[in-house]
Amino acid sequence: MHNPNHKLISVIIPIYNEELNIATLYDRVSVVMKSLKQNYELIFVNDCSKDSSLFLIKQLALKDSCVKFIDFSRNFGHQIAVSAGLEYSSGDFVAIIDADLQDPPELISDLYQKINQDYDVVYAKRRSRKDKNILKKMAYKVFYQLLSVISQVNIPLDTGDFRIIRRNVVDQLIKMPEQNKFLRGQIAWLGFNQTFIEYDRDARAAGEPGYSYRKLFRLALDGIISFSNMPLRLATISGFLVFFLSLVIICYTLYSYFFKSSTPQGWASLMISVLFIGGTQLMTIGIIGEYIGRIQNDVRQRPLYVLRDTNIQLKDK
Ligand code: UDP
Ligand code: MG
Repeated sequence: MHNPNHKLISVIIPIYNEELNIATLYDRVSVVMKSLKQNYELIFVNDCSKDSSLFLIKQLALKDSCVKFIDFSRNFGHQIAVSAGLEYSSGDFVAIIDADLQDPPELISDLYQKINQDYDVVYAKRRSRKDKNILKKMAYKVFYQLLSVISQVNIPLDTGDFRIIRRNVVDQLIKMPEQNKFLRGQIAWLGFNQTFIEYDRDARAAGEPGYSYRKLFRLALDGIISFSNMPLRLATISGFLVFFLSLVIICYTLYSYFFKSSTPQGWASLMISVLFIGGTQLMTIGIIGEYIGRIQNDVRQRPLYVLRDTNIQLKDK
């Protein structure tokens, strides 16, 4: 029962086709939350699941007043689902957890103990991953290494969004207007007192991963582009390099035209330089395009998501 002297902890759970996991997840999270002896709310964000996830969540909401739900009008993606959860949360602390039980719910208790030692963010760092997919595992490793080398903010290695954050951080986070969300980067950018605890990441309990390779690639690109201008700088540098290289080639061409009597064969070098310059131009335009696309997203100022339904009352919405 709600006790006004207790703190409120919100747990945000993004859901995309998780019908096989919802019951276990709900049981395990509820046990943990009850053990903390505080008030809590579970915010299920249904990212337009195609299975019976929404039905199951609504059933839970009927028998447990701690269960809140948000239902999206279409699939907006995991990062936006979490962002919506953050906006609709009212806890003094907010925990974010995946629905597929890869993040053990029991760890919320450790996260909570830790944040009470005067921290603002406690994220869960993966000591190991039990993903079945070797390719995905490697891609993650490469991505995190690359990001840490080129980003201007110190984004912690090997962490997802599984973490607990304090209200002050949530309030700042939902004020950040960018449309292409990369929450773990944004939270790192915000600063405050951050720390981590380590855990072994389990394999997905049941169902199929909602993150396709395309979605993962998009997330990786958002992470890199939102937190680094390195690709733009590379474009500039390669542009300059090619420019100077072509100056050299031009000088050589002029020299051989005026001072060498032999007929120039030329075809190979012509092709090489045309292709080289053309290729570099296309590449740099592409990189610039990626940035412009994101500027465009932010300038349009569309809402981040559209709701079909929710049982959460927002005072200021
Ligand atoms: N998810 C979502 N929308 C999507 C894809 C995934 O809300 O479009 C949710 C999914 O239900 C899960 C979490 O995001 O709770 C992480 O997804 P997944 O397990 O597929 O990601 P992975 O563990 O492979 O990174
Ligand atoms: Mg998963």
